[in-house]
Amino acid sequence: MPLRLSAVYNPISGRGAGARLAEELAARLRSRGHVCDFRATRRAGDAGALAAAAARDPLDALVVIGGDGTLNEVVNGLAGAPVAVCPVPMGTANVLASELHLPRDPAGVVASLEGGGRYAMDLGVCNGRRFFLMIGAGFDGEVVTAFHRGRKGAIRKSDYFLAATRFLARYRAPRIRITVDGRAVTERATWVLVSNVAGYAAFFSFARDARADDGALDVVWFTGGAPRDIYRYFWAGLRRQVDRLVDARWVRGAAVRLDSPGPVAKQMDGDPNGALPAEISMLPKALTLVVPG
Ligand SMILES: [Mg+2]
Repeated sequence: MPLRLSAVYNPISGRGAGARLAEELAARLRSRGHVCDFRATRRAGDAGALAAAAARDPLDALVVIGGDGTLNEVVNGLAGAPVAVCPVPMGTANVLASELHLPRDPAGVVASLEGGGRYAMDLGVCNGRRFFLMIGAGFDGEVVTAFHRGRKGAIRKSDYFLAATRFLARYRAPRIRITVDGRAVTERATWVLVSNVAGYAAFFSFARDARADDGALDVVWFTGGAPRDIYRYFWAGLRRQVDRLVDARWVRGAAVRLDSPGPVAKQMDGDPNGALPAEISMLPKALTLVVPG
């Protein structure tokens, strides 16, 4: 049975690998008789608009070739339209790809599309915008925001590491108040992660037990604010041992509010996302993904 597909790809993702992969995938899909319309993004916002346009026609799947930022745009562009999304991870972190074992080679992607595996994952909503990975408020929000202000071209993991290290030298931790399902849980968090998934930025896991299909968000927060505390948290995240920290806490809930007396930057799915306050809720199983069958 030929599939009706649409594809959105970021040609510069993966330092140009996105364009090559799109070309190979398009050729392979067409040679197998599938109908596929490939559209390249040119600037921020394109992925969302292209996804919204593609979803107006009946589709078997929407292929998305790009990083987490591209997928975030698509999820928001679709705004709940019942289209199965097939992410082909090309970005810096690809948290979702490693959790769901998503293929990134053309043969593997075609096999997923033809094999028909589906996974319904939860989405979070923060101040009206959908996210699929996490919201971070405090340290990582500040780093991502400062980093993108000076960004030129593609991002490498080492760039982030250097930016974070430089940033830490002049870091002053904020005070964040957290309310979960109407219950005040702390007024003294310095860094908060509201996670839909267990992984974080390729190597780390701060919310080890988070599941993307349990209808709840995992809220992990920290109370230390010195540079050595931040290093300690990342080290624990690398070793998946955040639960052993005496100054880290975890709670699960469906509605989270974060606010702060001072300005605190936040990030959504790894991109800058303005400042607190944040009003965060859940859309259980709101995104259908194409996964290996
Ligand atoms: Mg969950």
